[in-house]
Amino acid sequence: MQAEVPLPPFAAFDYHPRTQLVYGPGCVGRVGELARSLGAKRVLLVTDAGLVIAGHAARVEHALQAAGLDAVTYDRVRENPTTRDVDQCLAVAREASVDFLVGLGGGSSMDTAKGCNFILTNGGQMKDYWGVGKATKPMLPLIAIPTTAGTGSECQSAALIADEHSHLKMACLDPKAAARIALLDPQLTLSQPPRVTACTGIDAIAHAVETAVTKKRNPLSLMFSYEAFKLCVGSFARVMAHPLDEEARGRMLLGAAFAGLAIENSMLGAAHAAANPLTAHFNVVHGQAVGLMLPHVVRFNAHEPAARRAYRELASAPEIACVSDGESQAVEALVARLEKLLNVAGMPRSLAECGVKREWIPTLAEEAAKQWTAGFNPRRVAAEDFVKLYEAAFEPRGDGER
Ligand SMILES: [Zn+2]
Repeated sequence: MQAEVPLPPFAAFDYHPRTQLVYGPGCVGRVGELARSLGAKRVLLVTDAGLVIAGHAARVEHALQAAGLDAVTYDRVRENPTTRDVDQCLAVAREASVDFLVGLGGGSSMDTAKGCNFILTNGGQMKDYWGVGKATKPMLPLIAIPTTAGTGSECQSAALIADEHSHLKMACLDPKAAARIALLDPQLTLSQPPRVTACTGIDAIAHAVETAVTKKRNPLSLMFSYEAFKLCVGSFARVMAHPLDEEARGRMLLGAAFAGLAIENSMLGAAHAAANPLTAHFNVVHGQAVGLMLPHVVRFNAHEPAARRAYRELASAPEIACVSDGESQAVEALVARLEKLLNVAGMPRSLAECGVKREWIPTLAEEAAKQWTAGFNPRRVAAEDFVKLYEAAFEPRGDGER
């Protein structure tokens, strides 16, 4: 028998479900009816050129028009949207005098729609909303329709917009910015290219892992973290091997949405803090950067007894480890499974392979320590710890392992 350590107290929480979740194959066809039920007359559809080509944008436009609504489309969303993207979207929204927004796409489309909504309804510039709860006036209703299973932005009140010049990412959080409805239609995710499936899927898994151990975790956020982890871990290999498996795609989509709800109630940790500077300076795709750092962060955090216990509980949700297993064995089993998933994703497994220069480590570590999410990590993580984490991530690992 292991000696029982007293349970750590849970963080306080204030949960108000803001987003109606509508799930099912084909449910995108309900977008017109649902928008009308929220009072829409003139709708701005915010999406990207790829989704126009895939035919998804036309599907949404037709559903809106069939419900008697006017629809205007902004289809120039770019990856990692900046203030310039928001301004362009805003000009279209103002010109068309819209009273409703629909974000269709990955996190970038939803972030652009949310960013546009802030300024359209509250004026000023994006940086005025950097932080929490800066909007004073009501915002337009938004329906979010994800076409990737990753960011969970459809369930979050944050818009992530980078400054056009400094490329500094501004997290603008406000409950009013959250989508009123998230339409989760697995059919829309079948068209994801393999690399997008891999990067967004690993990101969703990292969200489940990080939210399960933060300082802000609580019984409610854990409920979402565990279910998200079970859904994603159980289906990731399947969607990589069988991209048209609608059932497995649906599980990933739900898992990513639940992980988004977990973030909303628990925040993130050191893997996300370490990933952001890699994306900013070396253009490493978000999911790839987070995935690369995650096993190292899990090992680092597991030195903290409360985090070790939290990892054991997480690993027991999809039966990677048994609750009766020792904590250290459970953490090792969890790390082994994460590494296996990264190999299934076919991702580079060392920072060198991603083009990161070793001499940049001190700069990257300084920046990582200043990231907002670092403050929620279960173990105190300073710049010198990030140096060690980045060093560890330079060692080649991968296919030879397990
Ligand atoms: Zn992420």
